[in-house]
Amino acid sequence: MTENAIEITGLRKTYRGSAKSGPKEALKGIDLTIPRGMIFGLLGPNGAGKSTIINILAGLVNKTSGQVRIWGFDQDVNPRQSRASIGVMPQEPNLDPFFTPRQSLEVQAGLYGVPAAQRKTDEILDLIGLTDKAGAYARTLSGGMRRRLLLGKALVHTPQILVLDEPTAGVDIELRNMLWANVRKLNEQGMTIILTTHYLEEAEAMCDEIAIINHGTLVTRDTTANLIGRIDAKTMVIVPEAPAALPGLPEGVEGRLRDDGALEFTYRTTQVPAEAVLAAVRNAGIAIRDVKTQEANLEDVFLSLTAGAHGRG
Ligand code: ADP
Ligand code: MG
Repeated sequence: MTENAIEITGLRKTYRGSAKSGPKEALKGIDLTIPRGMIFGLLGPNGAGKSTIINILAGLVNKTSGQVRIWGFDQDVNPRQSRASIGVMPQEPNLDPFFTPRQSLEVQAGLYGVPAAQRKTDEILDLIGLTDKAGAYARTLSGGMRRRLLLGKALVHTPQILVLDEPTAGVDIELRNMLWANVRKLNEQGMTIILTTHYLEEAEAMCDEIAIINHGTLVTRDTTANLIGRIDAKTMVIVPEAPAALPGLPEGVEGRLRDDGALEFTYRTTQVPAEAVLAAVRNAGIAIRDVKTQEANLEDVFLSLTAGAHGRG
């Protein structure tokens, strides 16, 4: 028995496209293994191929070639079991405007063959905070409520793996927090979570491991901590006792005088010891009131790995 939630090997997808646009090679051979139990992030600029991967996992898009195993079941050999193992909250809302949340959940459960006695409709309505809207038509729900209903629909068959495609793109902070609280709770209960996002801060806060894809290929895949550790850029901010000008700096250090009077230095820890920066400041006769240092963040990693791509948020 495999310990992995997802095993993707040599995954390719070429969209046929229209006569005008021609074929589009969206995935150029992706190999990706996602262990069970974690919150895994799929990151990449717009057009990278994230939704294509998700939609292939969901069975909504047919792959051109490659192998996909979901919870140990080959998608082509055991389509029913592999489909039952995964629930997907799609990027594009696909709600029937004439269904109420309760009906949507019931219909979805029916599609997955969940017997009436085993349905968790009330529980799910409660989880997504739509109990008092259970009987309202979908077209009367706010955008945020529709998102929550999409999450609920992904959960009707109690999948082992929950996939969320850009769940917080364009949503307000309150809904974002609610979605993340739900995701964390489900993960603590043992559900494997896979999410795509282009909010790096979010990936950094939520994900145990991250894969970065760009132009249909896997750029890197590592733990979030390792990814950030790979970038050795550091920033030191020094608050002087009295107004000061930028001192002369050793090679490899860039400095600027901030509007608030603080001196900000960036350098690579592998090339320049912090002491060299401090010495330059002291040698210029600047008394130091306060020092702060700041590590690189995921944004630095992302930019350095996807340099040249023009993603749009
Ligand atoms: P992401 O989710 O990372 O933004 P997508 O997987 O949606 O990326 O898209 C990857 C590439 O495939 C893009 O260039 C996109 O324009 C193209 N694409 C996606 N869906 C289709 C489709 N149905 N027909 C043709 N091209 C598509
Ligand atoms: Mg997408």
